[in-house]
Amino acid sequence: PERVVIVGAGHAGAQLCAGLRQDGWEGRILLIGDEPSLPYQRPPLSKTYLAGTTTLDDLLIRKPDFYTKEGVDFRQGRVVGIDREARTVDLEDGESLGYDELVLCLGARPRRLELPGADLEGVHYLRDAADIGRIREDTATARHAVIIGAGYIGLETAASLRKLGIGVTVIEVADRVLQRVTAPEVSEFYDRVHREEGVDIRVGVGVAGLEGDDGRVTGVRLSDGELVRAELVIVGVGVVPNVELAAAAGLPVDNGVVIDAYGRTSDPHVFAAGDCASYHDTRYGRRLRLESVPNAMEQAKSVAAAICGGQKEIAALPWFWSDQYDLKLQIAGLNAGYDEIVLRGDPADGRGFACFYFAQGRLIAADCVNRAQEFMFSKRAIAQGLAPDRALLADLETPLRSLLE
Ligand code: FAD
Repeated sequence: PERVVIVGAGHAGAQLCAGLRQDGWEGRILLIGDEPSLPYQRPPLSKTYLAGTTTLDDLLIRKPDFYTKEGVDFRQGRVVGIDREARTVDLEDGESLGYDELVLCLGARPRRLELPGADLEGVHYLRDAADIGRIREDTATARHAVIIGAGYIGLETAASLRKLGIGVTVIEVADRVLQRVTAPEVSEFYDRVHREEGVDIRVGVGVAGLEGDDGRVTGVRLSDGELVRAELVIVGVGVVPNVELAAAAGLPVDNGVVIDAYGRTSDPHVFAAGDCASYHDTRYGRRLRLESVPNAMEQAKSVAAAICGGQKEIAALPWFWSDQYDLKLQIAGLNAGYDEIVLRGDPADGRGFACFYFAQGRLIAADCVNRAQEFMFSKRAIAQGLAPDRALLADLETPLRSLLE
């Protein structure tokens, strides 16, 4: 029988196993991953798993018997090469495995710091369960932690470490937290809440290097000369897509393995999905590489359909979430290019509001903090290309339903 080989056992890889069977694939499925575990949910790593309230077993995307029942073989190993002519993949241990259809679900890896002291013990990145294992060895004794980078992962990590009673300083070189992804009003909100929770936030300052004693980190030297004490440092300065395998096999790469609207690369027998892939989004009119679970699932569904002979375009509206303290942020759409925002609720006070992003009168994105209804509304309104009345939207007395008509 024919065989689909999936390289990368994360969110996209797990969804593919299920999606292929749902779409009628009767051939063999081999899932190859370089982590020791079956696919698990990655988002909780910086949230409940770091805070110690969930175990890796709780996080498995599918229980082990799913793979047995669906006839999916799991193989732990690292793929180091692809031969598209022979249709084989090479494993690090020297073995070569044949495929009929190949799917690259390789994810992304943390961008590393190129600074003096970056390799001291106690300096961590946060991408997989093994990283959390190492971080948790240090949280047992650390009193002070420094987090480098105030993106979602940095801020979630700050919240989780506060829960563990550790003092936290966040260093951000931009002039506000979440600068790359939100409006200033939303940044101010998160800045305020983190300060209220006891986090020391430093914006507009870089890191000159890390200092240590006997091979272990003791502090972070800021670009203005100050030394911030730390027994634990976590770096969250973005990720780079794992594209090297594809590039070495001669597949086009453009900030991600280039795929078409159905998840196919330039080779009809090679597909890609998730954090490692970039596609042309028709709604936003440009090539995008998204880093989110919903995106990994959506693309994996399209790939499964394509392998089974169907056609399911990658078309879902991008959405994201982030959990910090009691704040549940849900984000609909992408805000790049917005020219106006509308607030519903007051971010300067309390713990819930929505920030709507408009471009030329049309709603393009929304950040909704503890506002599930506004999020549902936004998903629908953006998908339908609506231009809701901005004054009514800002008015808490106006039912959102009435703006969808
Ligand atoms: P991954 O889940 O990264 O899986 C890729 C797998 O492939 C990995 O196991 C990797 O080790 C393996 N691999 C790579 N190369 C090879 C190789 N050569 N051979 C074998 N195996 C290989 N998204 C959200 O939507 N909401 C959130 O709140 C959120 N929080 C996050 C918090 C953290 C701490 C992190 C790290 C990510 C978070 N994300 C969140 C992003 C989300 O986890 C990713 O978008 C998602 O995991 C992408 O799925 P994927 O299958 O593309 O890649």
